[in-house]
Amino acid sequence: MSDNCLFCKIIKGDIPSDKVYEDDHCYAFRDINPQTPVHVLVVPKRHVAGLNDTEAMPDQELAACLHAARQIAQQEGVGESGYRLLSNCGPHACQSVQHLHFHLMGGRQMSENMD
Ligand code: 5GP
Ligand code: ZN
Repeated sequence: MSDNCLFCKIIKGDIPSDKVYEDDHCYAFRDINPQTPVHVLVVPKRHVAGLNDTEAMPDQELAACLHAARQIAQQEGVGESGYRLLSNCGPHACQSVQHLHFHLMGGRQMSENMD
């Protein structure tokens, strides 16, 4: 938990969110500004700033986010049609919230261009 972190506040329930999944290690909720029909943010409950900081979390917790993403994709009906899971890290990738998160995106055809 980091006092000034938006996603820590969402996980704690201090800021409302449209929750789609929760387990011991992960919390997932709909992005407030969805880029695709399904756009869910999968976040570890432990506060780590991003992919550069994952050494500060147990492997089990990092893996839990990936397992959660797979389950959420099925739950959201995009498991077979396909989805993208991505994490922006740092300025060039336009990371705007400094709490590790994975965008789970699907529900329409996406382009091959990863820009
Ligand atoms: P980033 O740019 O760091 O990869 O992604 C941050 C994401 O968080 C953005 O897609 C943005 O729309 C989303 N976001 C920012 N503030 C909130 C919020 O208060 N609630 C929700 N549900 N999503 C948020
Ligand atoms: Zn946080």
